[in-house]
Amino acid sequence: MSGTKLTPMMAQYQSMRRSLPDDVLLLFRLGDFYEMFFEDAQKAAPILNVALTRRNSVPMCGVPYHAADNYISRLVKAGKRVAIAEQTTDPVPGKIVEREITRIISAGSVIEEHLLDDSRPNHLAAVFSLGKKIGLACVDHTTGAFSVAEFDTRGALLDELARLTPSELLFSDEQHELFGDFRAGQPYDAFAFLPEPAGQLLCDHFSVHSLDGFGCHGLHAAVGAAGAVLHYLIHQLRRPCDHLRTLKVREDARTVLIDAASQANLDLIDSRSGRKHTLLGVLDRTKTPMGARLLRDWILHPLRELEPLLARQDFIAAFLAEPFLHSKIRESLTGIRDVERTTVRLSQGAGNARDLLALATSLDHIPALKEDLISLGTTGPLEHLHDFTQLTELLSSALSDEPPAQIKDGGIIRDGHSAELDELRSASRDGKHWIAKLQEDERRRTGIDTLKVKYNNVFGYFIEITSAKLASATIPDDYTRKQTMANAERFITPALKEMENKVLGAEERAKQLEYELFLSLRQQVCTHLDPLQETAAAIAEIDVLAGLAETARAHNHCRPLLEESRRLEIQDGRHPVLEQTLVDEKFVPNDSTFEPEESLVQILTGPNMAGKSTYIRQVALITLMAQIGACVPAVAATVGLVDRIFCRVGASDDLSRGQSTFMVEMNETALILNHATDKSLVILDEIGRGTATFDGLSIAWAVAEHLHDTIACRTLFATHYHELTDLAETKTSVANFNVAVREWNDEIIFLRKILPGPADKSYGIQVARLAGLPAPVIDRARDILSHLEMHSAKPDAKQRGPKAKNTRPKDMPEPNPPQLDLFG
Ligand code: ADP
Ligand code: MG
Repeated sequence: MSGTKLTPMMAQYQSMRRSLPDDVLLLFRLGDFYEMFFEDAQKAAPILNVALTRRNSVPMCGVPYHAADNYISRLVKAGKRVAIAEQTTDPVPGKIVEREITRIISAGSVIEEHLLDDSRPNHLAAVFSLGKKIGLACVDHTTGAFSVAEFDTRGALLDELARLTPSELLFSDEQHELFGDFRAGQPYDAFAFLPEPAGQLLCDHFSVHSLDGFGCHGLHAAVGAAGAVLHYLIHQLRRPCDHLRTLKVREDARTVLIDAASQANLDLIDSRSGRKHTLLGVLDRTKTPMGARLLRDWILHPLRELEPLLARQDFIAAFLAEPFLHSKIRESLTGIRDVERTTVRLSQGAGNARDLLALATSLDHIPALKEDLISLGTTGPLEHLHDFTQLTELLSSALSDEPPAQIKDGGIIRDGHSAELDELRSASRDGKHWIAKLQEDERRRTGIDTLKVKYNNVFGYFIEITSAKLASATIPDDYTRKQTMANAERFITPALKEMENKVLGAEERAKQLEYELFLSLRQQVCTHLDPLQETAAAIAEIDVLAGLAETARAHNHCRPLLEESRRLEIQDGRHPVLEQTLVDEKFVPNDSTFEPEESLVQILTGPNMAGKSTYIRQVALITLMAQIGACVPAVAATVGLVDRIFCRVGASDDLSRGQSTFMVEMNETALILNHATDKSLVILDEIGRGTATFDGLSIAWAVAEHLHDTIACRTLFATHYHELTDLAETKTSVANFNVAVREWNDEIIFLRKILPGPADKSYGIQVARLAGLPAPVIDRARDILSHLEMHSAKPDAKQRGPKAKNTRPKDMPEPNPPQLDLFG
């Protein structure tokens, strides 16, 4: 624009634009539109699919203000940040309208309902590397949850990020090379991350002298990250942050760690075949959005401490023992809306009268809820349900039954709440009544029976007489002609205008007064921020527990016995998800027993499609469910608490990561061997598959050996390498299992039962037949197989049970290549 003289409005625009970071799009309110100019317009037009135009060679595009929400959400979903400049004064001829940036909307900090998913948190995170530590801070701006953690490795950080899936991730603009490739990453002022100013900012925000009280002592990297998040919210997004009341240090020592790959392999939250096929999908019977979000968090962070788990179990047991109270409580929960996010929205100066009403209706259920919980004999979250009788009474007596979404157009406040408002309303009502009567009076006065009193936005009230009647009638003196239409004339009278002023004046003042009353109600809510947040958290917990009890009842889950040991015993266990989704078959339950001295490492063999993968995941999922405090799909279970759950799938078995390679598989296996402890549970599905047979078997063998000898953790290893079954002969705590199948008329029948001992053969050809390979190919394969078996170094391929004599050196497998190829 240099050279051309800027109009005052463009100068105003430019100065605002300069105050914003380059990548923020500025939506500039111009009458009924939000306009974007220059590069902003060029960036936004294709995303919004609107026309890019030019005025005085300035590229621009705009969206109508009444549909702005929709357009803004498209920009935010496309990863853009959007600043809104509103007009703050009314247009006056010859004077420039003042404008102000009222909010900056970014994916990680949105509070607008239509931009959010009810059932998941929305995280804004920051990472900061300092010395040997990587600090992570995470805010859910919609709820006020604010937490920090520190990690020793990038891998551990990535695992946590996989759980949090932040919508925005800040990193210091001096640490591009460390974090520049992170999803949703964006550089931010390095200064904001420096532990000292960051700590100071946090102390000021929380009004404390030191962060030690939050457990942040010595966590410099984490404090840097937390300070940066807060700095970003306050200084760049200009967000009020009063609802961030405390800082939580996430301690890994308390939760079961589930790395990103295991989370995906166990289909905890997401799966390729949809939410229904995830553990969350099966368990979630929550009634409130807070509950849904909390359950998600519990599944991603199971506990490894006995005490809180027992408390959760007791709560669920109480629900199960009292079906009537249980359903009554769930009924109350149904009436409770998103108290957590609504409260925050209101505290942010956002939210409308509908939010206030929803809050009041929700809080109204608390006394009954509380009473029922007392009858149930439970405590815990009960103590955090506060009493809001006064607030709810105020809100429900003040708000009309169906307030509008707009907050400045009236219709919010009920009659009888404010004497002043009632007076204005009656003035306006009387006036309107007078006007309504006017039509009759004027018809009588003029003798024109088709005379009408009408209203439009341009003229206000007027009297309309059709041209046909006009010719024959005398128009009274006090009529002033206002407009001539094709077949009618419009008039006004001084009396009509006077009354109109009264009506409109009263209406205008009433609207203004209603707005002020609304603001004061909203302010009232904000004074209860702390107890409201606490109550919302308690409701979430009650909802999750009531939902888990419901799931347990519906699916016949049992309460597992939890203990500090390395035992794991499951009687008639089922796969929680598959058992719900199987259509053709009935799910066949199976027992599992891990005895530290006999069967710590279990090798599972059996033909393809027999049910190996299902079974080993079922054991992992039952363990995980037990450690969120839930009941489990079994007749009985004893779970010695685990510290980590690993679940790995061999490369060629893992279709979800199409370009997955053997390297990835080995990386993941390395992670297990480096991090598993004797308290961990390790599930390995066809590990060693992604490479040549010899390599693969050797690696699988060595991995199993290491898990047994060095780590000694509960391990389930499903494999097509029959050679691995020989491990049981030399290793005391290795046991073999297989999935039973029966041959019948050359067909294979899957029995889905896990039996002791190794599989007798691979049944590859039968499975191939089942899959529809043409008969000649099947016959030919049979010939080749019998030929190979005859010439094999180990002719007794069919009888490779535990008693089969092994001719190889015990500790060094020497597999038979052609036979292996068939198994693979
Ligand atoms: P594998 O890993 O041995 O190839 P899977 O575990 O993938 O076999 O199971 C194959 C299919 O068998 C599953 O998709 C499921 O339909 C069925 N299945 C597995 N286990 C059971 C069971 N216990 N009861 C009923 N059906 C089962
Ligand atoms: Mg499998």
